[in-house]
Amino acid sequence: MLLTDSTHDPALTSWVESANAPGHDFPIQNLPLARLRPASGDEPWRAGVAIGDHVLDLKLALEQSPWGDGIEALLEPLAAGDAAAFMALGARAWKLVREALSMALAEGSEQAPFLELCLLEPHRLEYSLPCRIGDYTDFYTGIHHARTVGALFRPDSPLLPNYPWVPIGYHGRASSVVVEGAAVRRPCGQSKGEASEPVFGPSRRLDYELELGLWIGAGNELGERVDMAAAEARLFGLTPLNDWSARDIQAWEYQPLGPFLSKSFATSVSPWIVTFDALAPFRRPSRRPEGEPQPLPYLDSVRNRESGAIDMHVEAWLQTARMKKTREPPVRLSHANVLEAAYWTPAQLVAHHTSNGCNLQVGDLLGTGTLSGPQPGQGGSLLELSGGGKVPLQLPGGERRTFLEDGDTVTIKAYCEAPGAVRIGLGSVSGTIEAAR
Ligand code: CA
Repeated sequence: MLLTDSTHDPALTSWVESANAPGHDFPIQNLPLARLRPASGDEPWRAGVAIGDHVLDLKLALEQSPWGDGIEALLEPLAAGDAAAFMALGARAWKLVREALSMALAEGSEQAPFLELCLLEPHRLEYSLPCRIGDYTDFYTGIHHARTVGALFRPDSPLLPNYPWVPIGYHGRASSVVVEGAAVRRPCGQSKGEASEPVFGPSRRLDYELELGLWIGAGNELGERVDMAAAEARLFGLTPLNDWSARDIQAWEYQPLGPFLSKSFATSVSPWIVTFDALAPFRRPSRRPEGEPQPLPYLDSVRNRESGAIDMHVEAWLQTARMKKTREPPVRLSHANVLEAAYWTPAQLVAHHTSNGCNLQVGDLLGTGTLSGPQPGQGGSLLELSGGGKVPLQLPGGERRTFLEDGDTVTIKAYCEAPGAVRIGLGSVSGTIEAAR
């Protein structure tokens, strides 16, 4: 099945010059959406599309430019800043709007003279979450993460027997999902070290988790299962995600019901959503390694086997307070390719989540789980990189880290590149640790 169309054509260029620079996150082949407004004043929220160094304001664009048949009605929820209403329109509407935006922003477009007036400077904008998140579920698809972390807790059986069969997940906290740039206060909690009794206080083992977030567009009715054939059409797009984690609190609280307060204090996402349509050139077969069990039939489909996986690079970067003061650039701590890191595909997560009749709703957020590469040094968290806090990481300026310190800024980035396709980026999400109080 051909996944790509004219919107992915590598020869396509934009009249917004900066979008044509090689290596830019936001070429015309990408077209990610965010909810935003001018930072000064109290103008209403609206959606925007990132194009090169600019953002096309879809409120202005709807007012200022003519659009094709039926497109204006589809753009209205975006112009009104109601991303959830747009996501609820479903996959056909998303594709039509992508095609319309691609034509409008393409070199030679007759809409260019109108839309030139609707371009905003990103640094003059403020961003919000795209919509109210009803529920947030965090999965555990990173098999190398599961193995490494499992080995720290259970050297004899790192990977539990259910791992190759069940996409493991837990229900996270939606209310504390925050958008790019929001400070993250070091949480307080109960932990138990070597002493005979636990103590309450600021976490001393604060960590990041390198993840992707999947946004649910069209949901399903309670009691209705979404099969593999329909699963991917429920997914609107992707964002870099940081699942901040307090390891000392986690280690003490996690048995027997899983993580709770060690995770629910903050989860950071980028405001930009890169749609699944934009990822078409980077879809790859989903294949189980030799000797691994095949997915049960409800988690299997021809399409998933042929193109369920995504060839995407994910990275975590650290800039300490001292590095900021001395103007040293951030240092990359983690990197992985999702193809290698993720044991389950996005469609499998949706099919599994709804397999008991659970209703996903528009704006629900699914985390992939920490994405670690197979090699030592490719851990997607400090827990892995420091061997459970035993081996400090040496930073270029002479500092050392086992876990995060106050003033540290962690940035999660993601991008796709492949021969014959224009590279696209997912932007980034940063958060800075503030002292506990
Ligand atoms: Ca996680």
